Amino acid sequence: MTDRPDPATGGPPGPLSRSHIRRLLDSHSLAPSRALGQNFLCDAGMVDKIVRLAGIGPGDHVLEIGPGLGSLTLGLCASGATVVAVEIDRYLIDGLRSTVAYYLDNDSLTIINDDIRQVDLETVLGGHRWVVVANLPYNIATPLVLDLVASQPTLDRWVVMVQREAGERLVAGPGSKIYGIPSVLLSYWATAKIVGTVGADLFLPKPNVESVLVRIDRRSEPLPPELAAADPDRLAKLVRTAFGQRRKMLRRSLDGVVDIAAITAAGIEPTQRPEQLSVQDWARLATVAP
Ligand code: SAM
Repeated sequence: MTDRPDPATGGPPGPLSRSHIRRLLDSHSLAPSRALGQNFLCDAGMVDKIVRLAGIGPGDHVLEIGPGLGSLTLGLCASGATVVAVEIDRYLIDGLRSTVAYYLDNDSLTIINDDIRQVDLETVLGGHRWVVVANLPYNIATPLVLDLVASQPTLDRWVVMVQREAGERLVAGPGSKIYGIPSVLLSYWATAKIVGTVGADLFLPKPNVESVLVRIDRRSEPLPPELAAADPDRLAKLVRTAFGQRRKMLRRSLDGVVDIAAITAAGIEPTQRPEQLSVQDWARLATVAP
C-alpha cells in the first residue's frame, strides 16, 4: 500500500474507516442494499485478523466473494497474494476501483462485476489452488459455501464471515441440536471450525445479528477410502430427505427411499434419528443403498 494519507480522514492509510465508507457511499449517491447483504466492515484490526487466520501471503491465490467497497480487499492485496474479487453490485464498482487505485501500488487485484453464482469459475480459477476469503452476503452464505465446496475442488481453504447461527450450523457435529443438512454436506468435503466472533459494531450499517469467522479446510481425501465411493449427490439426497423429518426415526423418514435391511447393512439402527449419524454413517448408507 502507499503511505499517502487516508483521503477521507487525512489520517494514516489503511483499510477503510467508518467515515471513509460513509463518504464513499455519499459521494457515489449509494445506500447499502439490504437485499445484497451489504454490511461493510470498518475495522482495520478485524481485517488484519482475517488475513492472519487465512494464512495468506505472496504466491497465494485468493478468491474474495463480495468485496463491497474494498475493506477486506485492501488487506488481502497487502498480504502479497494475488486476488480475484467478484462483486455483483455494479454501483459499488467505481468506489471499489477508486479505493484500490488510491491505496495499492501493484496490480495484484482483478475485479469481476458479476454474480458469483453465474461466473465461469473453471476459467477464472485456472490451474491454481485457491484460498477463499470473504465477508459473505448473509442471505446466500450457506448454499453458496455448500455449492462451491462441492463443485470447485481447487478451493482448498476458506476463512469466511457468516451470521453466527449459520456458522454454528456449518461446524456442528452429530448429536448436537443444530447438526443438520449443512453440517453433514460440508463435512463430506472439509473440516470446519469457528475461529472468531465479530461484533455488529464493526459494520456499517450495523446488522441485527452477530457474525462469526469460519475456517474451512478441504479434506485431502474425501473420507476414509472405503467410503470415498459414496456418490455425493446420493448422499445429499438421503441427508435432505431424512433431515426433512428430523424428529422421525430413519425407518420412517427414509421409508420408500432406503429399505430397513439396507439401513441395517450400513451398520445403522433403523430407530436412529438423522442427527445421530456421522458423515461416515451417511456415506456408508449412500454406498449400500445407491
Ligand atoms: N467485503 C465487504 C466488506 O467486508 O466490507 C462487503 C461485504 S458485504 C457483507 C457482502 C458483499 O457481497 C456486498 O458487497 C454485496 O454487494 C456482495 N454480493 C451479494 N451477493 C453477491 C453475489 N451473488 N455475488 C457477488 N457478490 C455479491
